Amino acid sequence: MRLFGTNGVRGVVNEDMTPELALRLGKAIGSYFQGNIAIATDTRTANEMLKDAVISGLISTGNNVFDAKIVPTPALQYYVKNMEVDAGVMITASHNPPQFDGIKVIDKDGTELARSREEEIEKIYFNESFKTKAWNEIGKVYDIDITDFYIESILDLIKKEEIKKHGFKVVIDCGNGAACYTMPYLIGEMAKVVGINCHPDGNFPARQPEPTPQNIKDLMNAVKAMNADIGIAYDGDADRAIFVDENGNYVHGDKSLALIAGYKVEEKGGVVVTPVSTSSCVEEYVKEKGGSVVYTKVGSPIVARKMIELKATFGGEENGGLIFPEHQYCRDGGMASVAMLELMALKGKSLSELLEEVPDYKMVKTKVECKDKDRIMKELKKKVEGKADYTDGIKIFHENGWVLIRPSGTEPIIRIYSQSKDENIAREMAEKYKKMIKEMV
Ligand code: MG
Repeated sequence: MRLFGTNGVRGVVNEDMTPELALRLGKAIGSYFQGNIAIATDTRTANEMLKDAVISGLISTGNNVFDAKIVPTPALQYYVKNMEVDAGVMITASHNPPQFDGIKVIDKDGTELARSREEEIEKIYFNESFKTKAWNEIGKVYDIDITDFYIESILDLIKKEEIKKHGFKVVIDCGNGAACYTMPYLIGEMAKVVGINCHPDGNFPARQPEPTPQNIKDLMNAVKAMNADIGIAYDGDADRAIFVDENGNYVHGDKSLALIAGYKVEEKGGVVVTPVSTSSCVEEYVKEKGGSVVYTKVGSPIVARKMIELKATFGGEENGGLIFPEHQYCRDGGMASVAMLELMALKGKSLSELLEEVPDYKMVKTKVECKDKDRIMKELKKKVEGKADYTDGIKIFHENGWVLIRPSGTEPIIRIYSQSKDENIAREMAEKYKKMIKEMV
């Protein structure tokens, strides 16, 4: 039986994510680590309910708990990596809609817990083999404030004075999420900040937590109306950052990934790690700047682990999740924000001017519903002709681009990503494989 999905334990509040589950999971996590555990949340309505239940479980099994309250996920990760705690627990459903919540476990090195260790916790959870303590061995709860620790760690790594000289005007859209607690202060250290949706509210009254083009229209309009230099939007737990250029145009995550990856390899050379689903604009741009790209399966913890193994210069995903190894091996919306400002400052170019250098690829994404994913994938492998890559699903290369077909980790669907410089070709190829898979289903 499996409890953890690709994003920790996640689901709808009081249907999947109940206090009972949180208590039992807290006991399982506590039984596994037996030490000091830091805990934090994003701004969701069920966070107190779930956090208190997890804390009960953790202290009942003898752990001391350090409660950081509401902070971005990367702030908790940075604290766990650098302070005397054995693990972290983050209560968040990241970019999911408001009715969702989740519980994610952070390992001592600040990365999301590896699957093998999640399995150990699942074993304790399902067998109920909890290490429950006697009355005089129960853990204690301490309140901590880690926002300055996180903000200062980022300020230490960037060329703040260079950025300051340009007097940038930055509109930030915290989306009423965890970003509210750090980003206005962090970016305020180096630029003029105009904030929208910068009060925490788990009802997400202004927009959905995922920074898609549809969801951040207000930010796009605000950047233009205020003559700002850049707009930045965060997801619910602020590990992802999406940018808007000075003309109010949405910048897709593959483009910002390419820009910052190019900037980093230009400076230091080396390898950039990204999943096979990432647009070729990243590889093309990184090569142009003297670096190389290594592809992994989809999933930010997988990218992070590969980066550690290869001592990579940079890594990330095209959803706006960027990983800066000089800081830590996880996605970080704060680091992404200041890196983009630093790039603009050092090059003396606006964001739209910088983007002109990045090759333009079109990506078409579609999916086919299917219960028997494994059979379809096996049959598909036999049918594929020409050059293909099997890192994650099947990536089929054709004359004018590629098509990636992979089963979803959590849902009964097969995803199709089709990429080409010509949008019509991308669409045609996506439809071709969609039809082929539908016939097989
Ligand atoms: Mg997130």
